[in-house]
Amino acid sequence: MSDLRELYQTTILDHNKKPRNFRVPDEANRSAEGHNPLCGDQISLHLAVDEDGVIQDLGFQGSGCAISTASASMMTQALKGKKVDEAMGLFDSFTELVTGDPLEEPETDGVGKLAVFAGVREYPMRVKCATLAWHTLKSAVLESGETAKTE
Ligand code: ZN
Repeated sequence: MSDLRELYQTTILDHNKKPRNFRVPDEANRSAEGHNPLCGDQISLHLAVDEDGVIQDLGFQGSGCAISTASASMMTQALKGKKVDEAMGLFDSFTELVTGDPLEEPETDGVGKLAVFAGVREYPMRVKCATLAWHTLKSAVLESGETAKTE
């Protein structure tokens, strides 16, 4: 797990410093706000979904701690070109990854680069930071129009 921990540190720092897709796509047709009051993280997420349910483009804006920013940044990279239902599948895998038993080996099949977030399971306080972007994704996809809250 120590290699993953090192990768976690460097990846989070990198994405926090240079968030990817930190913008509103021109073609955006779905969006949602997310708020994690526990830490003060705030994001808005914008998706351009075509009629086949494929996420053609997505981006986010907002401000928050390093983990919430890095998580949103990496999520946008992971979801570009994916179908909405694949994205929801990844939501479940990611949630499992960061909330699993810290004493057990994390299940990282199918999550790709997001595997670095397995380190978060050792810091329960940070789970909400890591999952904020994903909860916001869910409300954008469901078009609930509600602010996603981690509480
Ligand atoms: Zn946070």
